Amino acid sequence: MLKIENLSAGYGDVVVLRRINLEVSEGQIVALIGANGAGKTTTLKTVSGLLRPSKGKIFFEGKPIHNWPSYRTVKAGLIHVPEGRNLFRQMTVQENLELGSFRRGRGARNTNLEKVFNTFPKLRERKDQTAGTLSGGERQMLAIGRALMSEPKLLMLDEPSLGLAPLIVRDIFHTIQNIREEGTTILIVEQNAVQTLKMADYGYVLENGEVVLSGSGEDLLENEEIRTAYLGL
Ligand code: ATP
Repeated sequence: MLKIENLSAGYGDVVVLRRINLEVSEGQIVALIGANGAGKTTTLKTVSGLLRPSKGKIFFEGKPIHNWPSYRTVKAGLIHVPEGRNLFRQMTVQENLELGSFRRGRGARNTNLEKVFNTFPKLRERKDQTAGTLSGGERQMLAIGRALMSEPKLLMLDEPSLGLAPLIVRDIFHTIQNIREEGTTILIVEQNAVQTLKMADYGYVLENGEVVLSGSGEDLLENEEIRTAYLGL
């Protein structure tokens, strides 16, 4: 579904990603792990069209998308939930969700809203509250819910567990697995490597902008190098 070939990208003269190759097949959860500053967020930004690659190609469902602006990748069903969540704090939960269907999924807005409320009952309870009054976990649910409103084919999640308490992280990870079971493919960037690799079909390890290792979630969890360097085991 997604194929990244020899991708290099960065900010101005600063090269961050160096010749990355990565693939996501339909129905999979694929994890991108690595230390702070390894280039995980930069990878997602380049795929979603927020950054232009300096070299390499990106294909989504066989089409080259590396020159597409971000609104076009959204329209095609490639939906990015950024780190920091980017919610409209002064707007209500429901208004934030409705904005998710601005470019895609507009025709089924009410049905999708109902689905999101069923996935996240807390959001239904809080639908008329402003997003700024939500807890960290609820804000993450809202950010994922807003992405679901645009009927993603590929959902890209940037650090969904960041800053959340362990029990809330567990809920969020369960939800991510449910979203996949309902047919959405997922590319997830995480610091929380153990939990992420446990649910991932495949994982890539980024170090200084390069893919240094890849394999099934299980294989990476068993890899000695990974266990000491990234998993703290
Ligand atoms: P983190 O978990 O800390 O977000 P990451 O693996 O997602 O780490 P990136 O955010 O992709 O890493 O950052 C990779 C490198 O790019 C870092 O060295 C960072 O300082 C640099 N960088 C990120 N954003 C910018 C920017 N807007 N301008 C210049 N350099 C940037």
